[in-house]
Amino acid sequence: MQGFVHSIETMGLVDGPGTRTIFFLQGCPLRCAYCHNPDTQKKAGGRVMTPAEVVEFVGRYRPYYGQEGGVTFSGGEPLLQGKFLYECLKLLKGEGYNTCVDSSGFGDSRYYSRILPLVDTLILDVKAFNSRSFQELTAIDGFAEYLSFIAKLHERGFRGQIWVRHVMVPGFTDSEEAMAEFVRILRPIRAKVDRIEILPYHTSGVKKYRELGIPYRLEGVEPMDKERAKELEIYANKLFAEDLRQEREEQAAERQEKLKRIRDREVVSRAEKAEMFQTLRKLPLLSDVPPEDVEDVLSEVILANIKAGEVIFKTGDPPDYMYLIYQGQMKIFVNTMDGEEQIFYIYRDGDFVGGLNLLVQTPYRYIGQALTDCKVVVIPKAVFNRYFYNSPVVLRGVLTKSFERIRWAEELIQRLVTSNASMKTAGLLLKLVKRIGVKTDEGIRLELSMSREELGNYSGLRRETITRKLGEFRELGYIELVGNRVIIIKDLEALESYAL
Ligand code: SF4
Repeated sequence: MQGFVHSIETMGLVDGPGTRTIFFLQGCPLRCAYCHNPDTQKKAGGRVMTPAEVVEFVGRYRPYYGQEGGVTFSGGEPLLQGKFLYECLKLLKGEGYNTCVDSSGFGDSRYYSRILPLVDTLILDVKAFNSRSFQELTAIDGFAEYLSFIAKLHERGFRGQIWVRHVMVPGFTDSEEAMAEFVRILRPIRAKVDRIEILPYHTSGVKKYRELGIPYRLEGVEPMDKERAKELEIYANKLFAEDLRQEREEQAAERQEKLKRIRDREVVSRAEKAEMFQTLRKLPLLSDVPPEDVEDVLSEVILANIKAGEVIFKTGDPPDYMYLIYQGQMKIFVNTMDGEEQIFYIYRDGDFVGGLNLLVQTPYRYIGQALTDCKVVVIPKAVFNRYFYNSPVVLRGVLTKSFERIRWAEELIQRLVTSNASMKTAGLLLKLVKRIGVKTDEGIRLELSMSREELGNYSGLRRETITRKLGEFRELGYIELVGNRVIIIKDLEALESYAL
């Protein structure tokens, strides 16, 4: 594996935090009108290096990096040599280096999901803020693709910080309206943006174009006035801060609204509440709470009635509540990229969800929806932090649940990857036997709260396939179907022989 390196700067101070070694990689699909290094645009050329040589090279400068510094890949467009960049970052991260990539978002997209999780700082070059200026400045019609690159950073595993950079060219983006557009396109990533920098366009690259015999598209455009560029940089940063404040207010309002929605569903009947409290008092969850505080805890939790089909929480919801199912069933799922629903778990009486989110303060990554009418105990974050955060019983419970979920997810992956339809269907039935099976004289009875489609989504099969397989199992005498919602397992052993 080799890469093409145009040049190396050993003690850079502006391309990422602290002191850094900067590798300028060859290749760039853009043709920015102001590009100072048109010689980097060709993919091949320059110095040929292996990832191991890159690591060996930076090792000599490591003592200068201090706490913050490290290694930056710039260009050209470093994402274009995707495989090489990935291999370099992987080795560098393995050695504990701080990493930075300076990119315009036009590279080899096959490697984005591998590269981005390894990047600590992304210097995001924003060429223009609308389609027309983008095409005029870069010579490609790629604004939509650029916006998509920005929007998918999180989904592709990027968890670092972003420095946004823009080269301001007079007559293209040097206005307050343009700054408003600028801030708008940063919205999907605003929580990660650490700074916005504006670099005033200058003409020192013109000479290089003459030497290379390439026509210069900005011939006659004056350099950008530095003071005006600074003014607009301050303006953009202020707008951005205002946007962030607005976002926080919107989030606060959304949380209030959510609380109101939950409160609206609160169990109203006193008798019902008293009965639920009796049961809740006996839960291990409360066993570490001092007896004199139990009443307080119960008065602060919300006892919500959720109708079948209602969404209880969704992907991206902040970790504000933990949910304990008092009665009923809830499905936990994600919508996959091809629009299918993938169900991970079905939770029922006594199960809880969200404990880990509250403990480590991560947003929900899946959707929780009531499969049947449910009664759910909603535990607000403040209550969790006050009474449960340090409770060994709760921590043990969260750990046990997390472990069960990992095992469950592993089994699911194995089923999806290695099983055929019979194995998946048998595996699903065996899971259901464990979760909701009731022994009767006729066999093990499964009362389903899921439709055929949901059963399919749970097991990684299409609705038609699961319906066909259940029909086959019935003909073989393994099961009996009673209407759409009851399955009686007649031959457990036969089903077990399908399981891996
Ligand atoms: S992205 Fe950078 S390297 Fe590529 S053309 Fe534009 S200025 Fe030049």
